[in-house]
Amino acid sequence: MIAIGIDVGSTATKAVLLDNDKMYSRVKPTGWSPKQAGLETYQELLAAEGYQEKDVGMIVATGYGRIAIDFAEKVVTEITCHGRGAAYLVADADLVIDIGGQDSKVIKIDPTGKVLDFAMNDKCAAGTGRFLQVMANALGLDVSELAAVSEGQSPVAINNMCTVFAESEVIGLLAQGTPKGSIVAGLHASIAKRMASMAERIGSGNKIVFTGGVALNDGVRKSLENELGKKVCVPETCQMVGALGAALIGRDLMLGKK
Ligand code: ADP
Repeated sequence: MIAIGIDVGSTATKAVLLDNDKMYSRVKPTGWSPKQAGLETYQELLAAEGYQEKDVGMIVATGYGRIAIDFAEKVVTEITCHGRGAAYLVADADLVIDIGGQDSKVIKIDPTGKVLDFAMNDKCAAGTGRFLQVMANALGLDVSELAAVSEGQSPVAINNMCTVFAESEVIGLLAQGTPKGSIVAGLHASIAKRMASMAERIGSGNKIVFTGGVALNDGVRKSLENELGKKVCVPETCQMVGALGAALIGRDLMLGKK
């Protein structure tokens, strides 16, 4: 039997399938219907990997849209799932920095991935994936291009954290002829500063794991390393960590573990 984790995020829906220690995953935009996105991502993942619904022993849902997944046996918060997934992927991880589409979190964990403490910003788009999407749009870039554009560039100071004001500031900087690379490096630095102060509040860790879709942007990882003065690990499946945690919790339930 296989275990499935579904993470219905504000921006992207992720599904992870665990067949013993083999892991498969799929991502698609959440769009307007969290339920439909969750169902489609799950069914497409099964079909792509050659499984059928009768093979599924347990489904656990997480993420902001988790309540919509009425075909899941259990729902679990993203914080619990990110802790569990990060500990599974990175041995000795003790701090998780998760930046998703509409929130950001710092989670302190024990070696099993159990959450010891956390801090979270889900009140505004500042310092989230949405912030970078808006800025990329203003710069005529895609979020996937931000790391390359900022590579080796010296950051310009970005004074506004508010997404709306920062967008105007970016447009102003462009009008003054500031290179795009410096602007993007400045945006990465401003996100990293915000996350570093969140990390300090709960006690910055020794083995730091960066998760969520924004961890796909290596420029943000480098800026975080500068701010924290520590190495930051990014698992290859960084965007899948919440869904992986949900699948691991599902596998435990299937095997009768707590
Ligand atoms: P959520 O769970 O809230 O839906 P995710 O953790 O899936 O969010 O992250 C979504 C964010 O990841 C997007 O807002 C975007 O900024 C960022 N992102 C997605 N793909 C990429 C990419 N290829 N390169 C850089 N950033 C990306």
